Amino acid sequence: MLIIKTTGLLSDFIEKQEEIGLSIGFVPTMGALHAGHISLITQSKSANDLTVCSVFVNPTQFNNKDDFNKYPITIEADIDKLEAAGCDVLFLPSVDEIYPPGIEFPLYELGYLETILEGKYRPGHYQGVCKVVDRLLSLVKPTILYLGQKDYQQCMVIKKMMELRNIHAAVHISETIREKDGLAMSSRNTRLSKAEREQAVKIYETLTFMKAELKKGSLTETEQKATDFLTANGFKVDYASYANANTLELISNWNGTTPIVILIAAYLDEVRLIDNFVLN
Ligand code: AMP
Repeated sequence: MLIIKTTGLLSDFIEKQEEIGLSIGFVPTMGALHAGHISLITQSKSANDLTVCSVFVNPTQFNNKDDFNKYPITIEADIDKLEAAGCDVLFLPSVDEIYPPGIEFPLYELGYLETILEGKYRPGHYQGVCKVVDRLLSLVKPTILYLGQKDYQQCMVIKKMMELRNIHAAVHISETIREKDGLAMSSRNTRLSKAEREQAVKIYETLTFMKAELKKGSLTETEQKATDFLTANGFKVDYASYANANTLELISNWNGTTPIVILIAAYLDEVRLIDNFVLN
């Protein structure tokens, strides 16, 4: 696997691949890789001539400084995992490579998407996500961008940013990979204590409960029950909500036909966990 650390070398490399006409699959990550990330690499490999993964803990998307400082970094293990998965290129830039002095970004007009759920509870987060993905896409110029459904709202935000910026890569959204007990894999899971790790599965159980309870009419009582259940189990809940799976509009009264996504964000101590179920 080729490890490239500068934007200059990456651009030279990508230009050569374009000349040959190779298709490029791109998997952006913040490292501390787990089987969820690797599933994206595997899918990219099966559909493209070349797979590029980036590992970059993006400071502009952390609205909480402490969360940034404590974000897990396991680069040696990440390299081993990427090599074992057959990844072709690892882009491993410094903050200065991604954000050199003088670089400017637009204000991304994300509209409603930025006012609800993650947008509401993490002010500025999605502007940071858009900046880094915009920059990475301008360097890697992939044929297909691979994203995880685990970050459901982020997928919608990135698609919107690509529309705003006229970026034409295809987007492949990949299912959430889970631990045996149902907990969605996440780099932040490594920050949980043993007891918290056992508690964390309650998010999956609550999603399962909310799925079973979904029926036409008011959903607010079920949302409240879900919040109460998590709170009683030691979580600090940001939201446990039903939304329109296509627009992410929050739904408090369901007509029985609108496609639904159920989304939860909750803290165990300092560690913020998110998960969702998309209902078909
Ligand atoms: P991150 O390193 O957390 O920024 O994630 C990098 C990419 O991996 C994003 O597109 C995530 O949605 C995706 N991802 C994270 N966790 C999972 C998971 N458990 N299953 C599938 N994809 C995931």
